[in-house]
Amino acid sequence: MQADRMARVRGRMDELGVDVLLLSIGADLPWLTGYEALETERLTMLVLPCDGDATLVVPRLEAARVREEADAFSIAAWDETDDPIALVAKLAGAPSTAAIGDHTWARFLLDLQRALPHTSFRKASEVTAALRMVKDATEVDALRAAARAVDGIVVEMRSRPFAGRTETDVHRELVERMLDAGHERANFAIVGSGPNGASPHHEAGTRVIEPGDVVVCDFGGSMRHYCSDITRLFVVGEASPEVRDTYAVLTSAQEEAVRAARVGTTGEEVDGAARRIISEAGFGDRFIHRTGHGIGVETHEEPYIVAGNSTPLAPGNAFSIEPGIYLPGRFGLRLEDIVVATPDGPERLNQAPRDLAVVE
Ligand code: ZN
Ligand code: ZN
Ligand code: ZN
Repeated sequence: MQADRMARVRGRMDELGVDVLLLSIGADLPWLTGYEALETERLTMLVLPCDGDATLVVPRLEAARVREEADAFSIAAWDETDDPIALVAKLAGAPSTAAIGDHTWARFLLDLQRALPHTSFRKASEVTAALRMVKDATEVDALRAAARAVDGIVVEMRSRPFAGRTETDVHRELVERMLDAGHERANFAIVGSGPNGASPHHEAGTRVIEPGDVVVCDFGGSMRHYCSDITRLFVVGEASPEVRDTYAVLTSAQEEAVRAARVGTTGEEVDGAARRIISEAGFGDRFIHRTGHGIGVETHEEPYIVAGNSTPLAPGNAFSIEPGIYLPGRFGLRLEDIVVATPDGPERLNQAPRDLAVVE
């Protein structure tokens, strides 16, 4: 599988005139090799020439973490007193164009630019994004497993008490449950209660959850390298008629956008489907973000479900559909599922109940 992905990457490098691909930390490397670099001052870098063998340059003490794929790349371990930049430059040859991982630390890029003064650098995502956007069956399976895991957490949270607890406390529970449910990493857990829910990326804090609050829980992690991301709403006690009515608008907007997410429809059209319903109900200026984002080895990647994206969806595209309505100072509502575009129509990976969960 690794060798196959590398072949596709090389094909695209050929098309774009990229001589060498340089990948360090970030999701491209595990997507391509199964190995995730540690984020440290010691350089890890895959050197993948368009024509020629790939080498993973890795600190000696971390070499044992790498599972070698003999048909895909070999390992060049460097010792504490070696110069890894010189090693990468030598393996890269004298490329006229190099593509370097978008998340690579600037210090490494600056050193490489000095070591390769005649090389022009571009972003690795120009090579990889279009490939990563189309998930194969194994990748969709991994996304499905991650989605099922967080679905289970939503179901469990529906019978948990919320009132009297701080947002941080609920945040901690979500993180723990993600790890218990098989995620190797919890990437984020937004818990926005009452007025805090009106800030879409609110960081869980010390606010104590009260009766009558709507609590926005938006959380996700990585399982076998693939990400989960789900948003559900919990209401402490009875939901007010206003919350119920506004949520009815939101659920129909989300439903409509999921239905629109067919192969051949553009990201812009899917965004428009949700936005139209919310605008018609008078909340157009309260829906302050795009409808969704692609998901895979990263929580946010292409394709973006947003005005201006005129690329038609293709089979294997995986993305969130997550419209929201935010009333500053009062409450916020968002509903999010991960969807895959298939030849048979949109497949929702998340199956957790979508109604307002009434909790204590
Ligand atoms: Zn978000
Ligand atoms: Zn989310
Ligand atoms: Zn999301």
